[in-house]
Amino acid sequence: MTAQALDRFGRLINYLRISLTDKCNLRCVYCMPEDMVFRPSHELMQDDELSTLVRVFAELGFHKFRLTGGEPTIRQNIVDIVRMIAQTPGVNNLSMTTNGVLLRSLAEPLHRAGLQRINVSVDTLDPVRFKRITRWGSLDDVWAGIEAAERVGMTPIKLNAVVVRGFNDGDVTELARLSVDHDWQIRFIEMMPFGDVATFAREQIVTDQEIRDQIAGEYMPLELLDDGHLDGEARLYRFPNARGTVGFISTVTQPFCASCNRARLTADGILRLCLLRDKEVDLLTPLRNGASADDLKRIILDGIWHKPWGHGLEQDVIPLKRVMSQIGG
Ligand code: SAM
Ligand code: SF4
Repeated sequence: MTAQALDRFGRLINYLRISLTDKCNLRCVYCMPEDMVFRPSHELMQDDELSTLVRVFAELGFHKFRLTGGEPTIRQNIVDIVRMIAQTPGVNNLSMTTNGVLLRSLAEPLHRAGLQRINVSVDTLDPVRFKRITRWGSLDDVWAGIEAAERVGMTPIKLNAVVVRGFNDGDVTELARLSVDHDWQIRFIEMMPFGDVATFAREQIVTDQEIRDQIAGEYMPLELLDDGHLDGEARLYRFPNARGTVGFISTVTQPFCASCNRARLTADGILRLCLLRDKEVDLLTPLRNGASADDLKRIILDGIWHKPWGHGLEQDVIPLKRVMSQIGG
């Protein structure tokens, strides 16, 4: 029988989030500075290296994969990469987190290649504020991308909004109300502190309780679903008679570490064991030095065994090595 990836706390790790590139076509204020410097391409996983690592992870029982970045859709050959991963034996759940800018034309080929679902990040429905948050983005492009994804059947669609005080905290009700007429999950993500943008994130975080209070005051209260049990990482709510749901991902104030089943593979081939801890294991260097699949499996299993329990934000331990775009969210 093949080994499974267990950590020393008994958590089974079978969900891999892969960052396909550290680069992005936007510059969201909570994610990266406008003058972000990216890694040279040769330091990142090449297609064949990615293929080898995906196969190794799948053989270790990883079956759920999410592609992210940076912006995954700007990776060269993205459609071929999706097809390669979708066809890897053992992969049965393949999704992507994207800013949606390029989805208008890519939704159809990506879906045909095997991408089942997408999460699109959209923090406001106001075009001016959208530009202020993303610095470079156009809301029209993203909206067309969401519609294209829905048309080709990449459902249920999930929209992710990071709420930033002073930027889009006034937009939460309008975003939540999208769930009334659409069978979508609108998810509010608490901003997390990383590297260079840590101070900014800590000063401008908006908690889920504040968001719910605001929605109740401006529209109507949300009703808690499933007794508060998590759906993945989100706690779900619904407006009475709404088609969709509203989710809250409160990584900072209500961590869900006990049920964590995930690991991350960064674009430079590093196994990141916890989003908010700097503990990492290099996989690309051994792969380039000739490690076999069995060698890589041993390195991965040993890394997973030492996966940290959870984040240390309350003790002021902030991840400093990378910002979100270099890890993949
Ligand atoms: N570019 C894609 C996108 O924006 O969806 C994928 C990568 S992005 C790093 C993944 C997710 O992380 C996005 O939903 C983004 O809003 C979120 N994110 C980025 N920086 C964050 C931060 N400091 N705190 C919380 N979420 C963050
Ligand atoms: Fe790019 Fe996504 Fe980061 Fe925005 S959140 S800068 S879209 S990687």
